[in-house]
Amino acid sequence: MARIVMKFGGTSMAGTERIRRVANIVRKQQAAGHEVAVVVSAMAGETDRLVNFCREANPLYDPAEYDVVVASGEQVTSGLLALTLQSMGCKARSWLGWQLPVKTIEAHSKARVETIDSPELIESLASGEIAVIPGFQGVSEGGRITTMGRGGSDTSAVAVAAAIKADRCDIYTDVDGVYTTDPRIVAKAKKQKAVTYEEMLELASVGAKVLQTRSVGLAMKSGVRLQVLSSFLGDDAIPADELPGTMIVSDDEMNALVENGDMERQLVTGIAHDKNEAKIILTRVPDKPGAVAHIFEPLADASINVDMIIQNVGRDKGETDVTFTVPQADLPRAQALLEDKREEIGFNRLITDSKIAKISVVGVGMKSHAGVASTMFKSLSDRGINIQAISTSEIKISVLIDEDETELAVRVLHTAYGLDASDEAA
Ligand code: ADP
Ligand code: ASP
Ligand code: MG
Repeated sequence: MARIVMKFGGTSMAGTERIRRVANIVRKQQAAGHEVAVVVSAMAGETDRLVNFCREANPLYDPAEYDVVVASGEQVTSGLLALTLQSMGCKARSWLGWQLPVKTIEAHSKARVETIDSPELIESLASGEIAVIPGFQGVSEGGRITTMGRGGSDTSAVAVAAAIKADRCDIYTDVDGVYTTDPRIVAKAKKQKAVTYEEMLELASVGAKVLQTRSVGLAMKSGVRLQVLSSFLGDDAIPADELPGTMIVSDDEMNALVENGDMERQLVTGIAHDKNEAKIILTRVPDKPGAVAHIFEPLADASINVDMIIQNVGRDKGETDVTFTVPQADLPRAQALLEDKREEIGFNRLITDSKIAKISVVGVGMKSHAGVASTMFKSLSDRGINIQAISTSEIKISVLIDEDETELAVRVLHTAYGLDASDEAA
């Protein structure tokens, strides 16, 4: 008997019929003798709908009230799944974030889990009750509802798995594993048997939304065994216990898989894209010590993440242009904060552009192989795709391009690194 956390995403929870399918998968795991805690997302599209209501009500919304609104989507699906399980004769109950409680830091709309009280939950599981937990939501020290950022139900699931020392955390979604790139963009993308925590962390952080970045970091830190698999498989599907999806593994496990011939060592593990960033250009900033600090301090104080930064070569008169990217959702706040500090920073114009995309290539192989970057730049330039900014880490290269060229860029790079599924067959 094992203790398992099963997480179901928005597409899997979209409507009564799909929830019934989910309930059947859950019921089977319990019937196999396992203790089961389920973490659910809101129905597909619901969180977007709720976010839009907040924007319409007040574009510079108070994140605490935003959390009250957007957390409601998961409350609905957790109750519906508990009801559906009960209709099948299973013992089940929902546990809202504040009831467990899932305690988080105060940072509304991007809260981080601090602790999850588990004794009552463990008792309930031991009594044969299925626990249904709404993902994405928690409660702050001050007793207010918090949410964990878009895609946060993955993190809820891993946090619950860590708290109850689950044997495995299965992330059921609308694809059957982690692919070399988004399979919805590249039909020739290949499913991976395993991906290391480090690579998955980097892939997630640059936009492979199959797992929320924080969920991977937390799984790595707490040693949670994580599997990504499909909830859209027929009754004759291989059971989750036999690991039909993609396992997120340690370096040692990956080495063992390669030695056994189960995996090939690849230079590039995956390609990701992110259309959710926006570019800000501040023109004619004084080219002197401290100028850049004046720009980024207010953004950091407001917990706005700045990603790519370029400072142009100073022009005459000791002035320079500074370009950087922020999450699109934070653009109105970033703009307002910078306008507030216009005098202090001393810029001339503030120009924004949301029609951009970040394309990233990730792989641990880069640590020891040269040429990955030049292949990227050459393949893109051969197709006439202009690069607006570049950033790198030890196992990643990202470029900023025009949003309209996203799909083309991802396809071109997938082929350039030899990742197309047909390459293997050839
Ligand atoms: P859920 O609602 O289940 O949380 P998400 O939409 O958040 O699902 O994540 C699953 C989606 O992630 C897939 O439908 C796929 O389009 C996208 N995706 C992006 N990159 C990858 C990748 N490398 N492998 C698999 N799926 C990916
Ligand atoms: N419903 C939330 C979202 O759409 C959380 C999640 O699904 O993981 O971002
Ligand atoms: Mg998700």
